[in-house]
Amino acid sequence: MLLSLKDIFVNDGMKSDYHYTLSLSDIELDGIYPFKSDVDVSAVIVNKTGLVTLDIDVSFEYSRPCDRCFVDVEKKMSQHFSHRLVESLEGDYNDEYIETTDYKLDLSELVTSDIILNLPSKYLCKGDCQGLCQKCGHNLNLGECACDKRVIDPRLEALKELLD
Ligand SMILES: [Zn+2]
Ligand SMILES: [Zn+2]
Repeated sequence: MLLSLKDIFVNDGMKSDYHYTLSLSDIELDGIYPFKSDVDVSAVIVNKTGLVTLDIDVSFEYSRPCDRCFVDVEKKMSQHFSHRLVESLEGDYNDEYIETTDYKLDLSELVTSDIILNLPSKYLCKGDCQGLCQKCGHNLNLGECACDKRVIDPRLEALKELLD
């Protein structure tokens, strides 16, 4: 969604609301397509005494395999982003500010990068996911397997050999 923001920049006190859905179903991350539903986007742009701010709320269904047990888990996610919009950065690089060249802003592009940058780096089906057995690959959330899981300390093992 391409926004034209000239009216907001020149009118102190002006406010605009945007509500729409954005499809990210063709976004591929690490070989999977994690955005199962459209993203609900609500954005508010307001000019307060010449300071133009953009607040974005998004919610969507997200699905990817658990980092430990590799079972697909779907979660409802909500995120909030805030940006300050400026007409020009005048050569100053500042990643808190978004430059709106010719008062144009591609809101969907900004929302897409905000969402991707804020995805959780750790993703677990549940906080105490037991993961998979390192020997047989059994999903330990479904119960124990028959493997011997005692961790043998290599120093004790060496000592045992000496004593034998
Ligand atoms: Zn898991
Ligand atoms: Zn096992």
